[in-house]
Amino acid sequence: MGADADERTMRAAAPGPRAATTMHAMRVLVVEDEPKLAGLLARGLGEEGHPTDVATTGNDAVWMARSTPYDAIVLDVMLPGRDGFEVCRELRALDVWTPVLFLTARDAVADRVGGLDAGGDDYLAKPFSFPELLARLRALARRGPVRRPTVLEVGSLRLDPAAHRVWRGDTELDLSAKEFTLLEVFMRQPGKVLSRLELLERGWDMAYETRSNVVDVYVRYLREKIDRPFGCHSLETVRGVGYRLREPPGC
Ligand code: CA
Repeated sequence: MGADADERTMRAAAPGPRAATTMHAMRVLVVEDEPKLAGLLARGLGEEGHPTDVATTGNDAVWMARSTPYDAIVLDVMLPGRDGFEVCRELRALDVWTPVLFLTARDAVADRVGGLDAGGDDYLAKPFSFPELLARLRALARRGPVRRPTVLEVGSLRLDPAAHRVWRGDTELDLSAKEFTLLEVFMRQPGKVLSRLELLERGWDMAYETRSNVVDVYVRYLREKIDRPFGCHSLETVRGVGYRLREPPGC
């Protein structure tokens, strides 16, 4: 980013009027390699009563986010070495679920999608307004560190909704679009009994007759792919109620 862009970003990021309502202080980690912008953000947040630390590299960011319970992380995408997406993916893999707000240099769709798929919670394109940054951070901090895995796991089953891929252990499975949708519904609520009607409502459009046995048919297809070849019985029939995905030993 050149000097002009720095100036623009800094002007746009200048702290606005203090919010009229009081709120709890947030502890914030700012990950930004441009010293001027990092300093400005830290000062602005500090003046609003939010203790703020700055990391200038991805490695520092991961180390600090693991050792301190931040309420929110402001994460620049364009960092030297590991970029912001990689940092966020690593944090999620390490079971750190602090809400992440990405700062994207460009307001490109690919960046926004990449950020959310990497486990981020929100994004803001540079140059941004400081009051908007504050408002978004407050919204994120209210949610707290909720575990929101980008890859779903039940036993040895793994499903990546963004990449549209499924594995049983190391074996990648070839599912049809409908089978994939149905399995995702099960994997989002492992152990819960789902009725045929619930499964129909989530996986099929209104054109389907609700008394049809389409759910039973697709559950059979799924079992042929996710269970039978592996000697597993993870997709259980609960007589008179519906189906349930469980995590039997060894599967
Ligand atoms: Ca940067």
